[in-house]
Amino acid sequence: RLPTLVLVGRPNVGKSTLFNRLTRSRDALVANVPGLTRDRRYGRGKVGGRPYLVVDTAGFDPTAKEGLTAEMVRQAELAIREADLVLFVVDGRAGLTPHDEAIADYLRALGVAVRVLVNKTEGLDRAIARADFYALGFGEPLSISASHGDGVREMIHEVLAPF
Ligand code: GDP
Ligand code: MG
Repeated sequence: RLPTLVLVGRPNVGKSTLFNRLTRSRDALVANVPGLTRDRRYGRGKVGGRPYLVVDTAGFDPTAKEGLTAEMVRQAELAIREADLVLFVVDGRAGLTPHDEAIADYLRALGVAVRVLVNKTEGLDRAIARADFYALGFGEPLSISASHGDGVREMIHEVLAPF
């Protein structure tokens, strides 16, 4: 069984951009699992010789109790329960937000394994960009740029090392 990585985070942090980069390899096979309002997208990928499954989820507000947003949370939760590792994507240019903290609390309550990815760090000092995000409580964040590709291969190498 391939290790399954699930991308989680608030809207516009770059989850889908990262998904596209992680499934760009020649043997990528992308399946769409339609949800009521948003899709969970599944892709097969291989970066640095390591194969994995990756799941993109819609950005969500875990405090939503009803309506469309609650359905998005439900879709994300289905994916998270199948995950070997949640990749919690945050925006290194925006910095830490209350919405990120709400998602962190939600993930902690689910008891899943989580690694924080600080995206949009191209052209920034990567150590400074990730400094804020230690406060989320999931250990050392990894800095990447999904759109430029910086740090993505190293990230995959590191997060898949235990599998
Ligand atoms: P999602 O809502 O989390 O899936 O985010 P998207 O992947 O749709 O990206 C949201 C916006 O952030 C888009 O305009 C992307 O082009 C931009 N974006 C994604 N990754 C990066 C990055 O590494 N650097 C910068 N500067 N912008 C990015
Ligand atoms: Mg998206």
